[in-house]
Amino acid sequence: MPLDVFENRSIIKYAIFFQTINKCNEKLDSLNKEKEKLNSIIKKARGNRELTCLHCNSNYKIKELIYIQTYWFKPPSGCTEGGYPIAQEGYFICSNCNTRNRFLDSYELPYDYRKTMINPLVRFNRYYKCEFKDRIDKTKEHEKLRFVNITIGKDFIVEE
Ligand SMILES: [Zn+2]
Repeated sequence: MPLDVFENRSIIKYAIFFQTINKCNEKLDSLNKEKEKLNSIIKKARGNRELTCLHCNSNYKIKELIYIQTYWFKPPSGCTEGGYPIAQEGYFICSNCNTRNRFLDSYELPYDYRKTMINPLVRFNRYYKCEFKDRIDKTKEHEKLRFVNITIGKDFIVEE
């Protein structure tokens, strides 16, 4: 086989290789853009979910509410244990009646499942908390407000 034929074949192989990679990268770019678009639709849909104040029945979209986080302080023990806050329940304050609406587990949920993704509240916190207008920590003033308990149910779960 003359040398120039070999070189031509080699050049053609490289050209095919680069063409294949470039085509795949273009397709991946387009799929990534589509994925971003779909994720933003999901995000918007979650932000538009409504929560109802259990005291006065006012409805709010999640994206209009402020998620308030409470903490439980784990006291120090031994040489290295504890001494840090652990996130506990969350709630929103109804702007109409000033009631704290606490997000709680469903009572029927067996205790062993409370911290798993089977728990609608765990999923709610994972997927909806970031869609609230803002997230702040509880203040002493909040403790003076009356509260009601909202059980987060399976209606917030979407299989993924
Ligand atoms: Zn209310």
